[in-house]
Amino acid sequence: MGKIILTGDRPTGRLHLGHFVGSLRRRVELQNSGLFDKIFIMIADAQALTDNADNPEKIRQNIIEVALDYLACGIDPSKSTIFIQSQVAELCELAFYYMNLVTVSRLQRNPTVKTEIQMRNFETSIPVGFFTYPISQASDITAFRATTVPAGEDQQPMIEQAREIVRRFNGIYGENTLIEPEILLPDNAACMRLPGTDGKAKMSKSLGNCIYLSDSSEEVRKRVMSMYTDPDHIRVEDPGKVEGNTVFTYLDAFCRPEHFAKYWPDYCSLDELKAHYMRGGLGDVKVKKFLYAILEELLTPIRERRKEWEKDIPAVFDILKKGSDAAREVAAGTLADVRRAMRIDYFDDAELIAEQSRKFQG
Ligand code: ATP
Ligand code: MG
Repeated sequence: MGKIILTGDRPTGRLHLGHFVGSLRRRVELQNSGLFDKIFIMIADAQALTDNADNPEKIRQNIIEVALDYLACGIDPSKSTIFIQSQVAELCELAFYYMNLVTVSRLQRNPTVKTEIQMRNFETSIPVGFFTYPISQASDITAFRATTVPAGEDQQPMIEQAREIVRRFNGIYGENTLIEPEILLPDNAACMRLPGTDGKAKMSKSLGNCIYLSDSSEEVRKRVMSMYTDPDHIRVEDPGKVEGNTVFTYLDAFCRPEHFAKYWPDYCSLDELKAHYMRGGLGDVKVKKFLYAILEELLTPIRERRKEWEKDIPAVFDILKKGSDAAREVAAGTLADVRRAMRIDYFDDAELIAEQSRKFQG
């Protein structure tokens, strides 16, 4: 069996730098590596509706935004299948069967879901759909027989849940029906969970602390210049801290050695820059300007490619439609295997009819 990727994003807003370093950049590299037989990239609208049921327009409007961000970053529809989750009804049926294999207390232990419930102030009014989204995610992954899920650290508990479901399903209904997926985390700690520009634990659409891939140069400049740093680093001569200092975390995520020669030849490595900041005598503004130059180098071509695709929105919808049709076909194949394994394929099973006839005649 070849290697297959499934990943995706919720269409709750445009994509940001957290998505880029956590998953998107890796997807493009893997797509172009030729090491994968198939790559499925899902716009998870049904999952986004689990906590936005009363705001369907938000989800509807953001489908195209996410698709444009994908194309702008280099996802190539001739190599990767981009599809919309709700257009593949087979995923719901799979989730319905998987629900029998998971307990309520197991779902309650999921640390990411716990944090998200707190963030959304659901308290006792958690929608059942939201509570069970890790199960639906297991169906998304297994429907495409994905071996590999490139994602940020917050997705680790989801993949663990999916693996448990696969083991349980295969144990009861037949080994090798489903494939156990593996998460592919970013190799750099700063990219596993990129903090927000406010220094909060995670850059997240829901927290409004993002730099979006489609932000203008001016918006990026403002965001960088007002970024959270070390609150005790008041005068230039004060020694500064780099841990928990968002500007340095972003440098960990985005700075490469060649950036020094290009934008700040006074230093030749990030370690040297950090050492000076910690000693004192280096102001935040200079470091922020360096970060801004690096981000602009990254974002300028993305912005330009996005502008090109924006000129032909019907073509983007056509990509999504073709991708969704192709995805449905693959998911239907897995669902047929699942139904057979679960012995609910009554009308395709000639043996069943013969056996029941014998039972009643004999
Ligand atoms: P929402 O607030 O609606 O949940 P989000 O910003 O958390 O949105 P998702 O669509 O839930 O984004 O996440 C999509 C992918 O991006 C996942 O693989 C996730 O791990 C990754 N990701 C999101 N935010 C970050 C981040 N700050 N750092 C690293 N990876 C991230
Ligand atoms: Mg999220």
